[in-house]
Amino acid sequence: MQGAPGFVELLYLWGMKARRITIAIDGGAAVGKSTTAKQVAQVLEYLYIDTGAMYRAFTYGLLLEKIDFDDSTGVLDYLSRVKVGFTQDEKIKRVTLNDTALGTEIRSPEVSAGVSVVSAYPAVRRYMVERQRKIGAGGGVVMDGRDIGTVVFPDAELKVFMVAELDARVVRRVAELRAAGFEVDEDAVRQDLVRRDQLDAGRADSPLRKADDALELDTTHLSVEGQVAQIISWVHERTAIPVPV
Ligand code: C5P
Repeated sequence: MQGAPGFVELLYLWGMKARRITIAIDGGAAVGKSTTAKQVAQVLEYLYIDTGAMYRAFTYGLLLEKIDFDDSTGVLDYLSRVKVGFTQDEKIKRVTLNDTALGTEIRSPEVSAGVSVVSAYPAVRRYMVERQRKIGAGGGVVMDGRDIGTVVFPDAELKVFMVAELDARVVRRVAELRAAGFEVDEDAVRQDLVRRDQLDAGRADSPLRKADDALELDTTHLSVEGQVAQIISWVHERTAIPVPV
């Protein structure tokens, strides 16, 4: 039966390519969503959308304009004259603010410190959610964030809720930020993660929470490859063409 696995594998791949599903990945700060989601999208040849980058880009814009995060009039006025999107021509899309592509500047400690306050404004959420729904409308998308499975795509065929122990998250985030050129202190990063999770889970509008039908993935002891493999196997389950036995 040497040929059988190859045939089944082909059917799996065909099923995955033919049925371009929506994959919603949610979870707290630095649980590994973006790294994993990006690789899952690469394997499946799906579009990857980092919704956190959209809230970060908007927050970065407020910093540039020197608008206080608590100044609701200023924040809403800025919202009315800004456009958040993604580059079109690149395979790994970068977030854009009024058509200017942004990079690691949206990962700065200043942006991280303000983004959870800014993302709690219902009008800001409405704007982002509308854009996210438009971008992901055709399926074949992996979207990560806080409210993708609960609000943005409540009918997503696969919902994953990622969790990890705080120590592991701190180690990973410190390494990521240092690799991006930021000088960071472990305690400050820990405080930022805890504070953001509290604000994100405690806000009135679309708080961070696991959708009832989401599958939980604890990444504390998993490699990135292990996380990707787990999600791909869940995708197989949802897209496989039944094999006659
Ligand atoms: O994913 P990341 O940590 O970059 O997200 C930054 C912040 O953006 C989160 O802490 C949260 O306040 C906000 N966010 C959100 N809803 C999403 C994605 C991110 O409120 N779907």
